[in-house]
Amino acid sequence: MKAVVLTGPGELEMTERAIPSCGDHEVLVQVKACNLCKTDLKCLTMGQRDLVYPRVLGHEISGVIAEVGAAVTGYQKGQRVHVHPGIACGGCAYCEEGDDNLCDHMRIMGFNYDGGFQEYLIVPEEGVRGQIINIIENDTLSFEEISFIEPLSCCVNVQEKLKLAPSDTLLIIGAGRMGILNLRVAKALGVQKVFLVETNPERAARALKLGFDAVFESYEAVCQALPALTDGKGVDAAIPCCAAPEAMNLALRALKKRGRFGHFSGIIPDGATQPEINTLHYKEQIMAGAYGCGIAHSRRAKALLESGSLVVKDLITERIPLEELAHGLERVRQLETLSTIVVFD
Ligand SMILES: [Zn+2]
Ligand SMILES: [Zn+2]
Repeated sequence: MKAVVLTGPGELEMTERAIPSCGDHEVLVQVKACNLCKTDLKCLTMGQRDLVYPRVLGHEISGVIAEVGAAVTGYQKGQRVHVHPGIACGGCAYCEEGDDNLCDHMRIMGFNYDGGFQEYLIVPEEGVRGQIINIIENDTLSFEEISFIEPLSCCVNVQEKLKLAPSDTLLIIGAGRMGILNLRVAKALGVQKVFLVETNPERAARALKLGFDAVFESYEAVCQALPALTDGKGVDAAIPCCAAPEAMNLALRALKKRGRFGHFSGIIPDGATQPEINTLHYKEQIMAGAYGCGIAHSRRAKALLESGSLVVKDLITERIPLEELAHGLERVRQLETLSTIVVFD
């Protein structure tokens, strides 16, 4: 089978490997689609603390069960699945609270185990035990659509933390893939008014057609418009979906008193912009961090997709074969597509 292996920082290698044999407590999945993510790009260029070389990246995985270990129950060959990447220990204090994405002993498909940029992958015993395999019940969903479950789960996580209600106004900053997926989750949860700031004119124009209630191309424009859109109060919730420190300050300024800030995207400091953190104090705003997603978030994202209340079909803008992974990651870096997905025949 074909596998793209990261052999060292920046070194992707197309290799031919034997199909892994499936142990008694494991499940073998034939990968059908794997969505590309900024995290893959980060792993490629900068490495990652949990990354051990050589490694097959790819953590937004859909496929078909090809073999079920003799001791495994509950799964059948041929089932269409999403593979949730996080394998939690199940025993630490966070796991016991159901906050498995914060597990003290987290292992991740595509970081600690080989991920989806190969034709077959093994779900290891601890992953099977942790029920990271989500069986897809809606046959009309394509594998490309199923591969959106992981990034959608991350949006479900942050929006649950913000306790978004349909009557809330939400401001999203940045119309990359995660900004759009946050829009779709908010709309699926019934949020009536979702506004966007996107300073790139092409991305702003594209986003307008994807369901935002208002799109602004500059921070000044949104600050001017918000009073009229929010009865003079400011928005109830804001989720910056970009790494710019000034986006954080815009969110704090745009939020009303007691407004909720979803800290969902890591900030890359620019050395100049200071966070206006005292706004939190004066306006009693609430900041909620959200990192990745837990199993329960993935089940909720799957349910939203399967029910049809959340649609991603129109967000599939580029399909590539495994051979073009490096090129695809370059497209992700340049924000040239809304989504780029490795697909397998
Ligand atoms: Zn991802
Ligand atoms: Zn744990």
